[in-house]
Amino acid sequence: MDDIISLCKRRGFIFPGSDIYGGMAGLYDFGPYGVELLNNLKKVWWRDNVQLKPDYVGLDSAMFKNPKVWEASGHVGGFSDPLAECKECNTRIRVDKELEKVGVFADEKMSEEEINELFDAHKKEIKCPTCKKTNWSRARKFNLLVKSNLGDFTEQNTEPTYLPGEACQGIYLNYKNVVDTCRVKVPFGIAQIGKAFRNEISPRNFLFRCREFEQADTQYFVKPHENKENYERIKQEQWNWLLSLGIKAENLKWHQHENLVFYAKDAWDIEYNYPGNGFDELMGIHDRSDYDLTQHMKFSGTDLNYTDPVTNEKYIPWILETSMGLGRLFLAVICDAYTVEKDDKGNDRTVLKLKPELAPVRYAVFPLLKNKPELVEKAREVFTELSKKYPCEFDDNGNIGKRYRRQDEIGTPNCVVIDFDTLEDGTLALRDRDTTEQTRVKLEDLLTN
Ligand code: ATP
Repeated sequence: MDDIISLCKRRGFIFPGSDIYGGMAGLYDFGPYGVELLNNLKKVWWRDNVQLKPDYVGLDSAMFKNPKVWEASGHVGGFSDPLAECKECNTRIRVDKELEKVGVFADEKMSEEEINELFDAHKKEIKCPTCKKTNWSRARKFNLLVKSNLGDFTEQNTEPTYLPGEACQGIYLNYKNVVDTCRVKVPFGIAQIGKAFRNEISPRNFLFRCREFEQADTQYFVKPHENKENYERIKQEQWNWLLSLGIKAENLKWHQHENLVFYAKDAWDIEYNYPGNGFDELMGIHDRSDYDLTQHMKFSGTDLNYTDPVTNEKYIPWILETSMGLGRLFLAVICDAYTVEKDDKGNDRTVLKLKPELAPVRYAVFPLLKNKPELVEKAREVFTELSKKYPCEFDDNGNIGKRYRRQDEIGTPNCVVIDFDTLEDGTLALRDRDTTEQTRVKLEDLLTN
């Protein structure tokens, strides 16, 4: 993981947030190549989860919401993790995660008493990550919602607004608007990509646990009790989708929740084997019954019943949810693409073997020599044409081997070299990232690809 983090920083994928001020825990910025990869992941997700599915529509809801939303959803009352503090150096830990590390089953849904019972029995096995002592405070529940003073001019902020603790609430709030305005019929889904903010107690593992992150969510509305078959189908579709990005099957695993919240019918996570961290949650797939819409109906006073257009039957649809952190996906995709191989001279060659549709740069265009104006001019022409269709990069800096090396590290599938043969017969040298072999092609071949 250290090598991947270093590549991400060195090659402009990810920078620590507020870097020049010494950073801030749990915040990261996507650099020039990072934002391209992230946008490609979003594009492919949107295409496959919205545009190619006739029973799904998309949404982009406002981040701020009426504060009652977060009461109805249970976040104000119960969105908390158990926190304990080292009495020696004040380092804070998330107790359920630390208990898991020493082989004790615990989760954030347990009451304070339940967690403390387990913590008391095992605290001597949990070393403070900073001072290595085991002198812990009692665990207490800490609410993860991030407050803001939007629209509050009293300076007391007694009724705070919240940044979204999860992105999906906007889908529930717009469910009725979508039913009333679009020609959707149950079963149907709404998909959204949105930001989430959590006061995570110990942000860690790079993009894995941040305080600001993006989620890609789908909520599928079904007739009550018609959940099971749809749930199995959705689980399988999401698993296959992850494989379609180039994530290796051996690095994915199913994990069923043992401790379900009272309204849930079933809950599974797809876990990814993060280097250095092991298998951990990449995506949650939840069978949530009618809980979300019932809660919002109760708190808002708005009737959220669905009326079947054929039978006139009225009911609150049940919801099947998929929720995935895009930062965790980004990391999984980079980890599986990251390869170090020997080149023909026996030196290490680092290559990001990203699928072409995900690569930040599709074609890198090089004049063979910088000091030959006719080559540079032709290369600029090729760059201009290719850029109309693909994300491209022009590079005439340094020797060609170094230019290839740089593109290999950012995952560019092909480099296009303009050499003296180009001036003669118009063909371009096309170098393949994975085999390093070169073939001659015409510009038209690349444009019609
Ligand atoms: P965890 O148990 O790891 O805290 P969670 O069960 O609280 O995760 P959900 O609330 O189900 O996570 O969120 C859905 C998805 O959002 C997760 O599967 C994960 O990919 C992502 N996610 C959750 N918390 C974070 C975070 N702090 N940083 C980055 N991604 C996150």
